[in-house]
Amino acid sequence: MEKFKNFINGQWVPAVSGKTFLNYNPANLEDIIGEFAMSEQADVDNAVAAAKAAFETWHLVPAPKRGDMMRKAGDIFNRRKKELARIMTREMGKPTFETEGDVQEAIDTAYYAASETRRLFGHTVPSEMENKMNLTFRCPVGVVGVITAWNFPIAVPSWKILPAIAAGNTVVFKPSKDAPHSGVIFAEILEEAGFPKGVFNVLLGTGSMGDMIVHHPDVKIVGFTGSTEIGCHIGEIGGRLNKRVSLEMGGKNAQIVMDDANLELALDGAIWGAFGTTGQRCTATSRLIVHKDVYEKFLDMLRKRAESLRIGPGLEATTDMGPVIHLKSLENCDRMTKLAVSEGGRLVTGGKRVTDGDLAKGCFYAPTIIADCDETHTLFNEEVFGPVLCVAKADSFEHAMKLMNHSEYGLSGSIYTKNVNNAWTAARDIEVGICYINAPTIGAEAHMPFGGVKGTGNGHREGGWTVFDIFTEWKTVYFDYSDKLQRAQIDNY
Ligand code: NAD
Repeated sequence: MEKFKNFINGQWVPAVSGKTFLNYNPANLEDIIGEFAMSEQADVDNAVAAAKAAFETWHLVPAPKRGDMMRKAGDIFNRRKKELARIMTREMGKPTFETEGDVQEAIDTAYYAASETRRLFGHTVPSEMENKMNLTFRCPVGVVGVITAWNFPIAVPSWKILPAIAAGNTVVFKPSKDAPHSGVIFAEILEEAGFPKGVFNVLLGTGSMGDMIVHHPDVKIVGFTGSTEIGCHIGEIGGRLNKRVSLEMGGKNAQIVMDDANLELALDGAIWGAFGTTGQRCTATSRLIVHKDVYEKFLDMLRKRAESLRIGPGLEATTDMGPVIHLKSLENCDRMTKLAVSEGGRLVTGGKRVTDGDLAKGCFYAPTIIADCDETHTLFNEEVFGPVLCVAKADSFEHAMKLMNHSEYGLSGSIYTKNVNNAWTAARDIEVGICYINAPTIGAEAHMPFGGVKGTGNGHREGGWTVFDIFTEWKTVYFDYSDKLQRAQIDNY
């Protein structure tokens, strides 16, 4: 069986304890992907010490030179795109056309971060005093801990790791226990791109090891993507230890379909939003809010299309929708479906594990649609993270918006309508970080801010230029060339 090690200080090393864990292909639980190092406190200490030492010189490397290495990393991601996509599909299940997109996001992010190293602008500002100049510049902070979920094993880590390093920080990365192989490849690529030893380190292991990274006194920033439960736990630690913590957490995203919408377009959006990545995207459409005048018609269109999706291993070219990540997730999909029906929901299609032939060896759940839900239903409120879509009927635009905003979460939201007034009102009033008009709730672009409000985030934005606000501190410099003591305005008036 293939064995995978940690990457610390430019070396591939086993866990200090020698412990390992296994990871399985969710499309076939008989397929063991490999044996992975199980890191503990001693490994965390070693990785953080390496990152801290590397920071001493890395932050002095001119930013555009750091950008040159970043561009090279983008080239290598590009070269290894298809191979990496298959590795990712094998360990987390989504079809290769999706995992290729996952790698593409890292390619785009690498090139974007490289270009931003020539654009880490500050301000030059007139002083209150004579012969004095004021300016600001961005400073890297030190060691960044990156902890991520398994559903975008390359794209999401790239949103944090690449800009953090480009800005002059060093990184200790803990990939999810359910997608560790992708974390190993990430290290291989940054190693080949020529980043100095210690700038990027990977620790494989469980959530408790993630906790050790968060607690480590030399880790100054934590970039986290995962569930709201774990994110809030990390936020508490960050608050206590005065660390900057950027949290990207759960979602319960909704798509509105108005009576004046292009229904075929809205259907494409709903199917892709709800069942793309088997419903396991943070931005997945898990609530559909349909105007009463097109409700039954749209439900019928939806059912037909959902039933036509080809379910299978993501490594097969004909597959539209792969497995869920593990048996626990399969059980959760089933539990939530049954609960929704017991609370008055109407099962339109799905609601069962798929066990035809070899699919019985994997974690396949049928695309599931439950109609006649409203804000009193558990399914309308709780994230499933699987292919289970709940549908609610809206009497009017105002009612649809009320349903839309009835959520603890606020990642993404979308509306399909041809009414320009309603479209603009929705863009203003939908309580989310990412809003789509006549497009599904999924589909972020690397150069745009990404993140959510309410229970989804804590005010930071990854992606785009905003990510540098997470990974840098501002320094203000007052440069006095008057040769005399000048007092600031507060001391002169
Ligand atoms: P999770 O919260 O269980 O795990 C996320 C990461 O945190 C993993 O690496 C895990 O090992 C680690 N972890 C677990 N316990 C920890 C602890 N006590 N201290 C530190 N680290 C710990 O989430 P998951 O099941 O891997 O992913 C699914 C969740 O991620 C969903 O809720 C989904 O919405 C969310 N997600 C959000 C975004 C976003 O951008 N908002 C993107 C992708 C996924």
